[in-house]
Amino acid sequence: MTEIQSSQIAQLPVIGEAAHQSYPTATLYIVATPIGNVTDISLRALQALALVDAVACEDTRNTGHLLTRFGLSKPLIAAHQHNEREVADKLITRLLAGERIALVSDAGTPGVSDPGARIVDAVRAAGLRVLPLPGASAAITALSASGLVNDRFYFVGFLPAKAKQRESALQELLAVPATLVFYEAPHRILDCVVALGGVFEPTRQVVFARELTKLFEEIHRCPLGEALAWIQADAHREKGEYVVLLEGAVGGGDAEEAEAERILNILLAECSVKQAASLAAQITGRKKNALYERALAIKGHQA
Ligand code: SAM
Repeated sequence: MTEIQSSQIAQLPVIGEAAHQSYPTATLYIVATPIGNVTDISLRALQALALVDAVACEDTRNTGHLLTRFGLSKPLIAAHQHNEREVADKLITRLLAGERIALVSDAGTPGVSDPGARIVDAVRAAGLRVLPLPGASAAITALSASGLVNDRFYFVGFLPAKAKQRESALQELLAVPATLVFYEAPHRILDCVVALGGVFEPTRQVVFARELTKLFEEIHRCPLGEALAWIQADAHREKGEYVVLLEGAVGGGDAEEAEAERILNILLAECSVKQAASLAAQITGRKKNALYERALAIKGHQA
């Protein structure tokens, strides 16, 4: 785009339109914020942030900086996972007095692998209005650029940090036919890839969406069996924010999986987890360890 065209954008009537939208009082505004590129904020979100009486946020320093980038300054209320219930009560009192309050997280959409859901629940239960302002979400951004052709996706979010629990969580996902969407904490991507490789078939396609919307954005797709080598080929890849997408269960694998699951369930009704896994391994020819983990997960659900 030429400079003349880009300066024309600033004059577009739609920019003024944001000011003429409805911004009701006594309302909690759920405002999605950028996941890296500060300009990925909607016009309506900016207008709402300019209007609200206060902003409830995960980290007051982060949100303070973000508001400064937009030329705004607002009273900030810390609302993180450890104080959501108490904060909800305070927000409800203020909303009942007719205030507009925004709820934001550090990045992306509040309530999606981020604090916010409890506050929204309490505000709704108090009969007050909750108005969502959509915007960036790392999961949707990654899916849109993945090229994985599947209308269904299964949002897993963060896996457990402990290896055993992580493996059980992954075993439970083996037969899911939808694209699996994982969030991974910075510095844990290697553990994540090793864990995926230990459970899923190496032929499944995996997509790494790293540092989305930021300077060093990378989106890489390869078979799972090649994933570790890709990460290790560049030291930078062991850091940064990642969304990992994994192709869902396909074709014959699905049927075999379902059959193994059926056999395990029958055996578990009669035997211990260990015996069931051992017998299922003999019957199906599948790995005993994987069946053992799956049997534990089934038992966990039944408990
Ligand atoms: N609420 C956010 C959303 O709507 O996507 C997610 C917040 S969650 C605490 C943070 C995780 O989201 C990161 O660990 C990473 O997995 C993913 N994420 C956030 N920003 C990202 C980015 N720019 N690129 C890739 N992944 C990102």
